[in-house]
Amino acid sequence: MSYIDLHTHTTASDGTLKPQELVRLAEKTGLAAIAVTDHDTVEGLEAALEEGVALGLEVVPGVEISVDFINETHILGYFIDFYDPNLRTALERLREFRRKRNPLMVERLNQLGFAITLEEVAREAGGKVIGRPHIAKALMNKGYVKSIHEAFALYLTQGKPGYVDKEKLVAQEAIELITNSGGIAVLAHPKCLQLDLLDLEKAVQDLVQLGLKGIEAYYSTHSQPETQYYLQLAEKYNLLPTGGSDFHGSNKPEIKLGKLAVPYHLLTKLKIEAQIRQAP
Ligand code: AMP
Ligand code: ZN
Ligand code: FE
Ligand code: FE
Repeated sequence: MSYIDLHTHTTASDGTLKPQELVRLAEKTGLAAIAVTDHDTVEGLEAALEEGVALGLEVVPGVEISVDFINETHILGYFIDFYDPNLRTALERLREFRRKRNPLMVERLNQLGFAITLEEVAREAGGKVIGRPHIAKALMNKGYVKSIHEAFALYLTQGKPGYVDKEKLVAQEAIELITNSGGIAVLAHPKCLQLDLLDLEKAVQDLVQLGLKGIEAYYSTHSQPETQYYLQLAEKYNLLPTGGSDFHGSNKPEIKLGKLAVPYHLLTKLKIEAQIRQAP
């Protein structure tokens, strides 16, 4: 049986491995394919795809977009045309929303007595996309928290004193953006919506109306019964089930590449769907 991982982050957003390094690690761990799904950017995709060709590892171009819907709703886009100017313009707008939020979060944390600067956070990020994990790292470097997890639990999640909301697309905009650039829109980590079964099903129905084509059934924090439930939900609503770990390198040290057993045949179905939709 071959396995895949359709949810990974690189240094282009808030992962700690460069795109090439991620692809090399995926090859070394024996994965048959990966998708690179950085937040709000397609910057790492070219390098990842090139390395994939060099190593004979299948690399799927992807992206992950946070949306204004319910709690932490994230939409993954697969097989997007990452040269599409409309997609690139929209993603730049999302990065602009981050640029507005980051100084506000630093300011909040300064008010709480933590002497971190935006420059320190930006240094952690390296690339163009600054995210909360980089803020968490800056807090950790100064010894204010022992781990990234602690930084999130105490200060950086919604409702905690260091949190500032960023402007987001609504679900419809994100799904249309992905679909219009030839991609397949998939609901990421449904467990993170933190809904009971009835409300989750309603949310899925709403997203299907907006053009959702898949649901991430396999995920690092999904138990086996949860995965089974999401697979059933996929079948009920004619959604493609997908799966990925949400690997972030040392920014999420508990998640190791190659541990989540996502069967390859899910990617086969995704590819068939992408070809159908890209046909003239
Ligand atoms: P942002 O896009 O800047 O709002 O940051 C969201 C990212 O922060 C997610 O994609 C995760 O990588 C990370 N994250 C969110 N919640 C947690 C948490 N409780 N512990 C560790 N990382 C988290
Ligand atoms: Zn992330
Ligand atoms: Fe996510
Ligand atoms: Fe992610």
